[in-house]
Amino acid sequence: MLKAVLLQLAKSRRFARFVTGNSFARRCARRFIAGDMLHEAVAVVRELNSEGISATIDFLGEHVTSADGAQRVSYVCLDLVEAIANEKLDANVSVKLSQLGLDVDPKLCEGLLKNIVTRAELRNSFVRVDMEGSAYAEQTINIVERVREHSHAVGPVIQAYLYRSELNVVKLLHSRCPMRLCKGAYKEPSRIAYQRKKEVDANFVHLMQILLKSGIYHGIATHDKKIIDQCIEFSQMWCISKKEFEFQMLYGIRRDLQKDLVRRGYKVRVYVPFGNQWFPYFMRRLAERPANLWFFLRSALRA
Ligand SMILES: Cc1cc2nc3c(=O)[nH]c(=O)nc-3n(C[C@H](O)[C@H](O)[C@H](O)COP(=O)(O)OP(=O)(O)OC[C@H]3O[C@@H](n4cnc5c(N)ncnc54)[C@H](O)[C@@H]3O)c2cc1C
Repeated sequence: MLKAVLLQLAKSRRFARFVTGNSFARRCARRFIAGDMLHEAVAVVRELNSEGISATIDFLGEHVTSADGAQRVSYVCLDLVEAIANEKLDANVSVKLSQLGLDVDPKLCEGLLKNIVTRAELRNSFVRVDMEGSAYAEQTINIVERVREHSHAVGPVIQAYLYRSELNVVKLLHSRCPMRLCKGAYKEPSRIAYQRKKEVDANFVHLMQILLKSGIYHGIATHDKKIIDQCIEFSQMWCISKKEFEFQMLYGIRRDLQKDLVRRGYKVRVYVPFGNQWFPYFMRRLAERPANLWFFLRSALRA
């Protein structure tokens, strides 16, 4: 219930203005966000790299409403690719298609993504296309598939809560497409998505096994210790080496687990967001674990 309310509030512009204007909320959000500026993300990534952890950097923002806005985001992404290469960071780029103007003009969006992917390939990097609400899912997969006809330096995210994800996984494996598997962070109806955690977890494990057996390098994105243990067990059973996949987690969540996996020789990549459009991202993190909300509220009362 609280999760649904938080995800609904994440769409409210008025609430966004209220929260982002509040200095306490900004301080809370910093737990999950590297900072407003690119150089702050670079500093966080350098620190992670020094601990043996890779990163994927996301310039925060979604649902851009003009072609100019989409173009500007694409320039930031190109700068990001350059910064990663110039600073010799062990990192790649994550981007959302609604940020590149998917709502404004899908052709423009595809062209902008293609430019970023082309530059990433030139700089030996990679672009991960985040998956947003289900209204964007099929379009996102189709655009990624078309861009992959020009360059393989791009791959999408698969959400285990969607019934049709297995079909997408099977289709994408035909073109040896690398994927990131996550549970899914949006509110979706029972018509198209599993509602119960138990069902989502079971589908995650099912898809994870398909991905691991494919021989393609995928990202298993979860903080769920039980699923991580199942993944490790499955990979050992099928003689899949630690180099053939990676675990992915979000900045500010389960640092202990990230370090432990690295210590055990597993590859870990952390999603590092930066920028001042942090409100919806922050709300999704609260929705995933409403205990975070109580923690922040208690801190506010004590302050
Ligand atoms: C690298 C990465 C990229 C992602 N990209 C996308 C994407 O493109 N599209 C999309 O829809 N979703 C994305 N997600 C979010 C994902 O779908 C889940 O909402 C999120 O990862 C929480 O699910 P979980 O797998 O950690 O499992 P859960 O069952 O939700 O959590 C397992 C445990 O992890 C910890 N935990 C989880 N979330 C939090 C939190 N917010 N704060 C504190 N502790 C927490 C808790 O200890 C919890 O018990 C991404 C997640 C990761 C890690």
